Amino acid sequence: MAEPVWSSNEVRTCLSCGKPLKGRSDKKFCDDYCRNNYNNQVKANTNNYVRNVNNALRKNRHILESLLGIQEMIKVSKQRLISEGFQFKYHTHTYTTTKASTYFFCYEFGYLPLEGDLVLIVKKKDHQPTTS
Ligand SMILES: [Zn+2]
Repeated sequence: MAEPVWSSNEVRTCLSCGKPLKGRSDKKFCDDYCRNNYNNQVKANTNNYVRNVNNALRKNRHILESLLGIQEMIKVSKQRLISEGFQFKYHTHTYTTTKASTYFFCYEFGYLPLEGDLVLIVKKKDHQPTTS
């Protein structure tokens, strides 16, 4: 991240509380209190982001699981997933088959984008012996 460049006439302000700063030109905070406050805020924002992504992934997984039910695979429309709250930008990993189809997985549940508005929902079969 680029550091802000301050001209000498510019009034620098504390990154934490926004009060004007005096003293050294590389100063960013009034004092340790403001520095700690700011750093804690940055950390909290990072934790929030991680939590939000985790929640979105778990929700995606839950939606795939509940739509699939006991079936091995099922075709549904993207719109259906979106209406359930599915967020296509979040997935844990992808799997590309030898036929160059790329499945997007949220944990052990995945989907393959099909023609038009459809996706094919599948469940990963890790624990089955491969006979093919
Ligand atoms: Zn301050």
